[in-house]
Amino acid sequence: MATPTKDQVLNALKQVKGPDLSGDIVALGLVGPDDVAVSDGKVILAVRIPAERARELEPMRRAVEKVVAAVPGVSKVTVALTAERRASASPPSAGGVGAGQGAPGPASDTGAGDLGAGVKGVSAIIAVASGKGGVGKSTTAVNLALGLKAGGLNVGLLDADIYGPSMPRLLKISGRPEPVSGRVLRPMENYGLKVMSMGFLVDEETPMIWRGPMVISALTQMLNEVLWGPLDVLVVDMPPGTGDAQLTMAQQVPLAGAVIVSTPQDLALIDARKGLAMFQRTEVPVLGIVENMSYFLCPRCGERSEIFGHGGAESEAARIGVPFLGGVPLDIAVRETSDAGTPVVVSAPDSGVAKAYRGIADRVIDRLKQERQAAGRKAPKIVMET
Ligand code: ADP
Repeated sequence: MATPTKDQVLNALKQVKGPDLSGDIVALGLVGPDDVAVSDGKVILAVRIPAERARELEPMRRAVEKVVAAVPGVSKVTVALTAERRASASPPSAGGVGAGQGAPGPASDTGAGDLGAGVKGVSAIIAVASGKGGVGKSTTAVNLALGLKAGGLNVGLLDADIYGPSMPRLLKISGRPEPVSGRVLRPMENYGLKVMSMGFLVDEETPMIWRGPMVISALTQMLNEVLWGPLDVLVVDMPPGTGDAQLTMAQQVPLAGAVIVSTPQDLALIDARKGLAMFQRTEVPVLGIVENMSYFLCPRCGERSEIFGHGGAESEAARIGVPFLGGVPLDIAVRETSDAGTPVVVSAPDSGVAKAYRGIADRVIDRLKQERQAAGRKAPKIVMET
């Protein structure tokens, strides 16, 4: 059978009336060519609606599914209703205050130090980013989150790497999040972390053909339609790189700060600086740099070898005026525990690597407090149990 085209899908969508039964959803501009992705027989599309009407408009979503499924050659349809959002949403201001989240947060405001981070019940959202892939960003995000948890905080982890979600594997979580009410999902949980990832929502075989706007709406839904609170910190594992997609994503999340992960080689090779520049453009405070694989810890003799030279990252961080949060050794145990879904901070809490991650977590909290104070706001109610 012939592969369906985007035009055929858009034509079919004209049969669906708008939320107030006047006009059709295409004519009303609720869905356009940029919101539709077609790959072989699979169609993924997003329809924009006001957030508060999501539940009431579920029949409209089903009508959309039905008309698209009837297009010849369509084998699978996924329809998302996304909160209406002005294209010119302003970037978050320093301190992550009031980023203008369109949808109301589902979590109850428990008063657990909510400083207006933008997602209800969440005190601070921090991004973990890198200039490029493969430097250990996701590994750092997981172990940093667990390090914060070990310090007595309520912590969540949002896997924003929508194209290559890794949290289901790194945290050994399978299954699907259950709805709590309407479209609001309960996050998955393991090792005491609340976790949300595209990996829980989309089959692994589903091609990741999501276009920019749809990726953004997936992210905002994972932020706003998940029962996160009460959380002291939500760690967001950003997609690797510093392109436009990452920049837009950074702008969509009301970030209190960003942590940049880099290897010693990349620090020298400017990749980390691209990460810095990205957050500087969005006015998100950079909390500091984590140097991953900074030295080699011999698994047999425990000897530390500075294979890339000592102190490079620290001095480079100082040179570019960014705090150094700490170094994590290149240690086979990190890779093995990651592969096994038993992150080193929980599986070997007394190891040197786990201590390194907990030290980084402590410094991240200190830096958050500093940034909050610098922004002239009261210090967050975050207390590390030592
Ligand atoms: P990214 O998110 O930057 O793409 P990952 O976190 O997926 O990178 O890490 C890439 C690979 O490197 C993984 O196999 C991971 O287990 C391994 N790795 C990350 N950090 C370390 C480390 N400190 N020591 C040993 N292996 C590591």
